[in-house]
Amino acid sequence: MEKRISGTTGLFTLLGSPVGHSGSPAMYNFSFQHQGLDYAYMAFDVKKDQMPQAIDALRLFKVRGSNVTMPCKTVAATLVDDLSPAAKIIGAINVIVNDNGKLTGHITDGIGFVRNLKEHGVDVAGKKLVVIGAGGAATALQVQSALDGAKAIAIFNQDDEFYANAEQTQAKIKEAKPDVDVQVYPLADQAKLKAEIESADILVNATIVGMKPLDGQSLIDPSFLRPDLVVADTVYNPLKTKLIEDAEAIGCVTAPGKGMLLWQGAAAYTLFTGKDMPTDEYQAYEA
Ligand code: NAD
Repeated sequence: MEKRISGTTGLFTLLGSPVGHSGSPAMYNFSFQHQGLDYAYMAFDVKKDQMPQAIDALRLFKVRGSNVTMPCKTVAATLVDDLSPAAKIIGAINVIVNDNGKLTGHITDGIGFVRNLKEHGVDVAGKKLVVIGAGGAATALQVQSALDGAKAIAIFNQDDEFYANAEQTQAKIKEAKPDVDVQVYPLADQAKLKAEIESADILVNATIVGMKPLDGQSLIDPSFLRPDLVVADTVYNPLKTKLIEDAEAIGCVTAPGKGMLLWQGAAAYTLFTGKDMPTDEYQAYEA
């Protein structure tokens, strides 16, 4: 470390709360070192109301770039100088690039989702998706799938404060990509869910169900699955959710959330450095 950090080392950060559990510092510092880049990455626990100060600090310390995590993704989008097209539609960011003092916000969660599917041999272009969820991850992947040519997206959510998000996403996608057929349904309508899955190519769980402490639970009745359905999950802890296990048992192509996490990070790395992240080497190192 004493050989790596110098007076010229460029800093990248993670801002959000909590951040102590994050795998990002290990992943980015490994990659910087592997590629001989004079950069370092540190996580800072920052609450929502502290974000204006944190963004000022990025400017003051000429921090090269930052990731932003919950609960700061939405407020951060209001504090930067410019937004990528997807970030403009979504109104949230997980990446900030500092280009000589100009801060641009990007969102790579949806890019990571689409890339993860691609790594499993599945292209969203021309496909119909059924997505359970209307929170941050769901919105990002719904918008990115629409931008990347999905034919139709059926969004299901339980009747909670997130339901209105789904309707807003529907309206925003309609404005940006009017050809994409986006429908919103209550998750309680199981007959509709079954029918929509029947005509879909890709089913996605983008809720917290399946994630610890809700592991072992799934919102999808296994009888709704069939072998030619692609099943993806945003949940990465545990690595295999009950939904992914049910889908594997039926013979579906599955795309667990860990890949989405890796590829959203890799997309951020490219925005930060202009280089491809050494993902194979990092996965081998991590294993
Ligand atoms: P969020 O809080 O923004 O949204 C939560 C969603 O879960 C909402 O749609 C809500 O209605 C739904 N929900 C909550 N409890 C439910 C229940 N009992 N039954 C049905 N639906 C329920 O959360 P988020 O940030 O969108 O995260 C969702 C999941 O995606 C988490 O597991 C998170 O770790 C994961 N995630 C993964 C990545 C990745 O790169 N793989 C990125 C972001 C988030």
